[in-house]
Amino acid sequence: NLTSRLTRVLDSIRGQGRLTEEQISAAARELRMALLEADVALPVIKDFIDKVKARALGVEITQSLTPGQAFLRIVQQELTTTLGGTAEPINLRAQPPAVILMAGLQGSGKTTTTGKLARKLKTEDKKNVIVVSADVYRPAAIEQLRIVAGQVGVEWFPSAVGESPVAIATAALAHARKQYADVLIVDTAGRTTVDQEMMAEIAQLHAAVNPVETLFVVDSMTGQDAAKTARAFADAVPLTGVVLTKIDGDSRGGAALSVRHVTGKPIKFLGVGEKSDKLEVFHPDRIANRIIGQGDMLSLIEETAKKVDAEKAAKLAQKLKSKKGFDLEDFREQMLQVQNMGSIESLIEKLPGGAQIQAQMKNVNAGKEMGKVVAIINSMTPQERKFPDLIKASRKRRIAAGSGVEVQEVNKLLRQFDTTRDMMKKVANGGMAKLMRGLAG
Ligand code: GDP
Ligand code: MG
Repeated sequence: NLTSRLTRVLDSIRGQGRLTEEQISAAARELRMALLEADVALPVIKDFIDKVKARALGVEITQSLTPGQAFLRIVQQELTTTLGGTAEPINLRAQPPAVILMAGLQGSGKTTTTGKLARKLKTEDKKNVIVVSADVYRPAAIEQLRIVAGQVGVEWFPSAVGESPVAIATAALAHARKQYADVLIVDTAGRTTVDQEMMAEIAQLHAAVNPVETLFVVDSMTGQDAAKTARAFADAVPLTGVVLTKIDGDSRGGAALSVRHVTGKPIKFLGVGEKSDKLEVFHPDRIANRIIGQGDMLSLIEETAKKVDAEKAAKLAQKLKSKKGFDLEDFREQMLQVQNMGSIESLIEKLPGGAQIQAQMKNVNAGKEMGKVVAIINSMTPQERKFPDLIKASRKRRIAAGSGVEVQEVNKLLRQFDTTRDMMKKVANGGMAKLMRGLAG
């Protein structure tokens, strides 16, 4: 999948600053392969990659994300945007009855989706729904809708083989008006391939019932073909939305990107199974993750950030446990790190007793204190830094003179060091398990 592909190409180069053009090209090649594997149509892939490349050029690599993850994040965001950003609800803003026309190839799932949608509108939106089949070529198709309507408890308007689809739809609409129905769903016929006669028929039906929603139903397993079919239907009738069915099969979601790209219309629902309750509102980010080939990329990235913190904490804990212990060298190093404290502070905060250490360090950090502390420690001999208890009165005077401060400043520093060392010891004695628990929480 894309995640492992990108990791391979990009993560050998440790991230600094921005992604280079070379890196982006390499990543784009992997993205192209991944999109092909996800069954996205070729022209769609080209357009999409151009967009991602343009965005990737300006992106900074932060500490906690590898270049691969940074690129993946761009892909995920761009996919989500391309797929419509947010979920788009069904539109029923019309003089009732609001007519929904179902269009699509035979076997795409029109009749099944008609039942699912009727059920949803009835149970969730408390709508009074009537369904009708204009599939006058197959008696089984009309019967199928009758059964589905019975199962979900909505009214089925009768039709029969040999009647005119337009006459059926018109009669159903008149009936729905008389019944003060909220919604009329018109199920239609479909051929196995696109043909002119079928396109003419759906256009006539559209003109006859003036639907507020014309939903293009497409089997997500048809992959690249979905783009061609979508174009043919979009040319025949003004589509308002898409239903992507059979996403529960081993569909890799590529059809979503293709169909959205070709029609420019929002995908409104996903068919996720044969049963009448298996209809889901379409969430672009979820399909984006499916196309990328990763359940939940964001959580992985968070995980990684946590791991980085945990590694730092483990190193610190190791150091505290070692015989050497915490000395003035470490203390000085800490002071020098105070400037880029952001990450360390958040790390220490998570340690048992961390809040106190933090307060202590903030205290030291106040004013010009930090520079002074570093200067004082610099004036000590390596031995004094390792064994601060050696520092008695005469040494204090020497150190104070060397660093241009008063002796009481040296005393103050030694007290601060003592407090910090005590804190550190407590942390170390708290043990690894506690530390890790603290980090995980
Ligand atoms: P139509 O010819 O467009 O009306 O297609 P149908 O509604 O008759 O569906 C064709 C086949 O696809 C039927 O066997 C359905 O049960 C099946 N089907 C439709 N939608 C889904 C879906 O979301 N998931 C699965 N697994 N099967 C579906
Ligand atoms: Mg059907």
